Amino acid sequence: MTNIIDGRKIAKELNAKTKKRVEKLNAQGITPGIVVILIGDNPASIIYTRNKHRTAEKLGMKSILRKFPKDVSQTEVLQAIHHYNDDPTIHAILIQLPLPKHLNQTELIEAIAPEKDVDGFNSRNVGKLYNNEDGHYPVSCTSRGIMTLLHSYLDKIEGKNVTIIGRSILVSRPLQSLLINENATVTMVSLHTDNIDYYTKHADILVVAAGKPNLIKKDQVKPGATVIDVGINRTANHHLVGDVDFDDVKEVAENITPVPGGVGPMTIATLMQQTVDLCEWNR
Ligand code: NAD
Repeated sequence: MTNIIDGRKIAKELNAKTKKRVEKLNAQGITPGIVVILIGDNPASIIYTRNKHRTAEKLGMKSILRKFPKDVSQTEVLQAIHHYNDDPTIHAILIQLPLPKHLNQTELIEAIAPEKDVDGFNSRNVGKLYNNEDGHYPVSCTSRGIMTLLHSYLDKIEGKNVTIIGRSILVSRPLQSLLINENATVTMVSLHTDNIDYYTKHADILVVAAGKPNLIKKDQVKPGATVIDVGINRTANHHLVGDVDFDDVKEVAENITPVPGGVGPMTIATLMQQTVDLCEWNR
């Protein structure tokens, strides 16, 4: 029987744990604080940042949604980042991506203090993850959320063959490191890969982060595989669909995430978890 991986339920449970941690910190006179920076008027970014801001408030954190117009200058955003780097009531800084084209994304991400880099995109934190360093550091929230989902449905990651479709720095590459650090064998495929089916059919765990609606069908999936669909695609009639043809693939997968209700809720819950982590690690 196929298990539908319930991202909403697991996110809710994680949020409940995070709320308890916030309450414990509150009792010591500490309030975890997050600032979410939104630049421009990308409709998806507006929804994501609103959800992040509201969830943080609901869990009892200090939450700031800092908005800038789409023509804001690089200097003005840098000044805001420096301001929040120096603000002891803020433990986590997130810049919602993608950014308007005139802004230098790398410079802005590198400007975030590594100990407040809640999405783990700063090169210092990326390097620590890549090197599998001991100690505490933030990692990509979507990737860590996917690991939480996998751990909820699988006994172990070690020894599994994993194929990741896509090689983005936001999701796929940090996920690759997290999986390798748990002794999985990871193959990454992209638009430049010949015969993608060869790699998908050998995967015990198939992660699809391509941004292509219904790209993956059941004849490309190993029977009994765990399938994680990261894609969020909006159809012409405003429905959300993933990169995996869910109804087709669920006939062969053992575990599969739906869209919506799979990876998406985990990204926000992990952001909340990691904000409290940063507060605890750096107080
Ligand atoms: P991206 O959009 O930056 O890059 C897509 C990658 O997929 C590229 O490496 C490309 O080579 C590869 N690719 C595209 N089409 C392919 C094909 N037909 N065959 C093989 N490879 C192909 O990647 P991203 O930022 O990781 O985003 C991927 C998807 O995940 C998007 O739909 C995005 O909206 C979604 N996303 C969801 C969450 C979440 O919280 N659920 C978070 C981040 C991104």
